Amino acid sequence: MIYEVCIIGGGLAGSEAALWLAGQGVAVRLVEQKPLHRSPAHQQDGFAELVCSNSLKAERLDSAAGLLKAEMRLLGSSLLPVADACRVAAGGALAVDREAFSAGVGALLEAHPLITIEHRQADAIPDDGLTLVATGPLTDGPLAGAIEALAGGGTLSFYDAAAPIVTAASLDMDRVFAASRYDRGDADYLNCPFDKAGYEAFHAALLEAEIAPLHDFDRPLTVYEGCMPVEVMARRGADTLRYGPMRPVGLRDPRTGHRPWANVQLRRENAEGTLYNLVGFQTNLKFGEQQRVFGMIPGLVHAEFARYGVMHRNTFLDSPKLLVDGFALKARPDVFFAGQITGFEGYMESAACGLLAARALLARLAGSVYTPPPPKTMCGALSRYVTAENADFQPMGANMGLLPPLAQPEKNKRERYRKLAERGLAAMQDWISEEV
Ligand SMILES: Cc1cc2nc3c(=O)[nH]c(=O)nc-3n(C[C@H](O)[C@H](O)[C@H](O)COP(=O)(O)OP(=O)(O)OC[C@H]3O[C@@H](n4cnc5c(N)ncnc54)[C@H](O)[C@@H]3O)c2cc1C
Repeated sequence: MIYEVCIIGGGLAGSEAALWLAGQGVAVRLVEQKPLHRSPAHQQDGFAELVCSNSLKAERLDSAAGLLKAEMRLLGSSLLPVADACRVAAGGALAVDREAFSAGVGALLEAHPLITIEHRQADAIPDDGLTLVATGPLTDGPLAGAIEALAGGGTLSFYDAAAPIVTAASLDMDRVFAASRYDRGDADYLNCPFDKAGYEAFHAALLEAEIAPLHDFDRPLTVYEGCMPVEVMARRGADTLRYGPMRPVGLRDPRTGHRPWANVQLRRENAEGTLYNLVGFQTNLKFGEQQRVFGMIPGLVHAEFARYGVMHRNTFLDSPKLLVDGFALKARPDVFFAGQITGFEGYMESAACGLLAARALLARLAGSVYTPPPPKTMCGALSRYVTAENADFQPMGANMGLLPPLAQPEKNKRERYRKLAERGLAAMQDWISEEV
């Protein structure tokens, strides 16, 4: 018997999922709106378009992006061999000729006897059979409405308003203290206390910091009113931040015995406590500027950014509330999601999500249970991130801070990353061999 699946969206996630499923003998109907309709960011007519940079990031195994790609090769990625074939020189990164890459992926899709391509804009989710929605960060129009109707109002976001996230291992713990305001809770926050001079220098640096240019379709809408960028707040007055996200009320710095002049709170981002976000620090500053200016926050001088703050157009589900392991909707288990719309952020992350969702779909078709890869793998860590409880869920790309710490702590960063990567790759190999 030939199983059939409908995939909506032939971007990074949809193409990778379609090729993997077809390779397993599953018939795929792939619905892609191009060339009839294009989002404001898509410029080409082909499949798997890289809308911005042509880099698929680092290849070194001892990097988050390198580990992710190594895992994807084990999982049977079809996109990475195409990328290898059309790579362009880019130091240690895998960068590609974007047109050749898209053409190469398109050729594989079009040549596969089990893949039928329909060029049309899907405006609804089919009622029958299994569907994989992979319409990306610029999904909108009737389909977005249909997704929201299935998922529930308020569960689909259209803009990122994300504060930076830093790794716990990179914080200077001698400069920060754990406490909740007015000692409520369990000292849940890490606090970075400023004195007056430090705050004034920070405020001045924030006023002068360079802001990232925005596309027309990224221009802030009213949705940003409730989460104003810190640099905009800083321009409203010298003390605005001290009455906003940097308010020191209810806190006492144990080193001075006094209330700080201003304070930045860091909140746990994951259950393991390996990542912390800067509370209320949504920002549009250029990434280098975030490192420079936020590095002035006490305790953050050597901060490693697991993700920078961003504010741009980005359609994504409140996945922790809506999805089960395997990326199916709790409310409609026949509807799966893959790619950036789930919160896997980035080209390769989206493609990896396509591979994982394809495996989950195949498990469903075969009547078996899908178990995600272990959290020691980058794919497993990202899967867990998008399904673990999170009151302020924002998309996340691959980063070493997502992985559980090593049993034996390792201070040297390069060496730590190498050990984490080797552990992850071994765990992925075991997971794949147990799966068959
Ligand atoms: C402006 C912008 C720049 C980005 N730059 C980078 C970057 O430099 N590096 C990086 O790693 N990540 C970047 N990203 C993030 C993200 O990794 C990419 O957007 C990635 O392409 C997401 O993959 P995807 O498969 O989820 O979606 P996409 O690759 O966008 O694929 C979605 C596909 O679905 C189709 N589609 C949409 N709606 C419908 C519909 N109703 N019916 C039928 N087809 C439909 C689209 O035409 C498209 O082909 C960027 C995102 C944006 C928006």
